[in-house]
Amino acid sequence: MGECKRRGYCCQDVRLAEPPELLERAYHYWKKSSSIDPNFSEIYLIYPMLEFKFENKDEDLPYHYRCKHFTHESSGLPACSIHPVRPKMCRDFPYYEDVKHLDTSGPVSPYEGCGYNDPD
Ligand code: SF4
Repeated sequence: MGECKRRGYCCQDVRLAEPPELLERAYHYWKKSSSIDPNFSEIYLIYPMLEFKFENKDEDLPYHYRCKHFTHESSGLPACSIHPVRPKMCRDFPYYEDVKHLDTSGPVSPYEGCGYNDPD
């Protein structure tokens, strides 16, 4: 499995199972809760970060978003403006530490050109 090469595909095209209306409802619900378990769900956290792009009903994760924290350094290199405190879903991408039953012999990232799909 390769590694993150900071190409920014995942941040510009965050793919989720949840539509924007559900993210918004969950965000407002969880914001009022006094017992948020950060390991259970980050939906309450990620809604304000995301800008909805489009839906593709043919995909398992049909809702496409762009992260508002995605930016570029002055050198032009893609960057995360909140990298030290980015959400768990970003730190864990592409999730294979937790999902050991998945086959990692082929491409592990859904993004063509992602560094995790490089052979190194
Ligand atoms: S928080 Fe940072 S790492 Fe996560 S999607 Fe946004 S720009 Fe990418």
